[in-house]
Amino acid sequence: MSSPLILARPDLLDLEPYQHAAWEPALVRLHANENPWRPPGDNSAAGLNRYPEPQPARLIERLAALYEVGLERLLVGRGSDEAIDLLVRGFCRAGRDGVLVLPPTFGMYKVAARIQGANVHELVLTAAQGFAPTAQAVLARWRADIKLVFLCSPNNPTGNMYEEEIVLELARKLVDKALVVVDEAYLEFAHRPSLSRYQAGLPNLVVLRTLSKAFALAGARCGSVIADPEIIGLLRRIISPYAIPSATIEIVEHALSPPQLIQARARVEALIVERERLARALTTIGSVRRVYPSKANFLLVEFTNARRAFEASRAAGLLVRDVSSQPGLEACLRISIGLPEQNDRLLKALEQA
Ligand code: PMP
Repeated sequence: MSSPLILARPDLLDLEPYQHAAWEPALVRLHANENPWRPPGDNSAAGLNRYPEPQPARLIERLAALYEVGLERLLVGRGSDEAIDLLVRGFCRAGRDGVLVLPPTFGMYKVAARIQGANVHELVLTAAQGFAPTAQAVLARWRADIKLVFLCSPNNPTGNMYEEEIVLELARKLVDKALVVVDEAYLEFAHRPSLSRYQAGLPNLVVLRTLSKAFALAGARCGSVIADPEIIGLLRRIISPYAIPSATIEIVEHALSPPQLIQARARVEALIVERERLARALTTIGSVRRVYPSKANFLLVEFTNARRAFEASRAAGLLVRDVSSQPGLEACLRISIGLPEQNDRLLKALEQA
């Protein structure tokens, strides 16, 4: 088993990273061309006139504790969107290397690959298979240019999870061939442990986590990559020098304090209860053909006429996601779980449609 960096872009391995201003908070900062005054109304702890700490140590400690991984295995970025982008940029040479995605799935894997000029290979999953691949099917689709295999579990927009054993088998069989990137953006809604507990034994297994969903911090932009320390080292060299704004650092440190965590977890539980209630109620509506089981904070719903259901929701002031352009989902909408009264409004609008 070699270093996972054999899969990285060779031209990045000796990249001299940008030398950001030294981080020595005890000293007066006359070295970063900052403004010495705070902007009006700024009562942040760090001062918005100052550049934030690059890869902020305390925030990383909190995130590493939350995800139960070593500090050296975690990179923090602006949401998992940035993590996906960094992985593609770090591992795919334009016009030569590629990624494998399993639609219907989250759209950013393909977009990030296209922006980088990487090849996009697809293995389409079907409802008949429960949108779950076999390891053999993924391995049969693998080609020598594929450096990243994106697996989204629970998957957006289908809501199902991949069998742990399948992901582990893929990581084992693709060692020295590709990184297996498991996007666990919705894991907290599944009551299942993270695959990151296997990361130390599988250098090509990469796990993505985010605070955007279960922790209600989509606006703060804070996501983590959990990976082999050598991969984290490479990503730290290519991420922009002051990626995480100081406001985000302060907000997230507060949100990850013990009392806030208790509240966040209670809300996840409430959301799961509401998800199951909404799923049951939807099945009683005539225009609903099928509600897919979900381990996430949304439901994938098949209608007799998805367009009409979309318009009826919109007319009631509720925006749901039209996912009908994704393969196999021609009659489907994705509905995020809202507050109970919002979900009731949706049910009423769909009943009357
Ligand atoms: N992964 C998945 C599967 C998602 O659905 C989303 C957001 N819709 C993201 C990643 C991006 O999340 P973030 O806010 O952390 O960038």
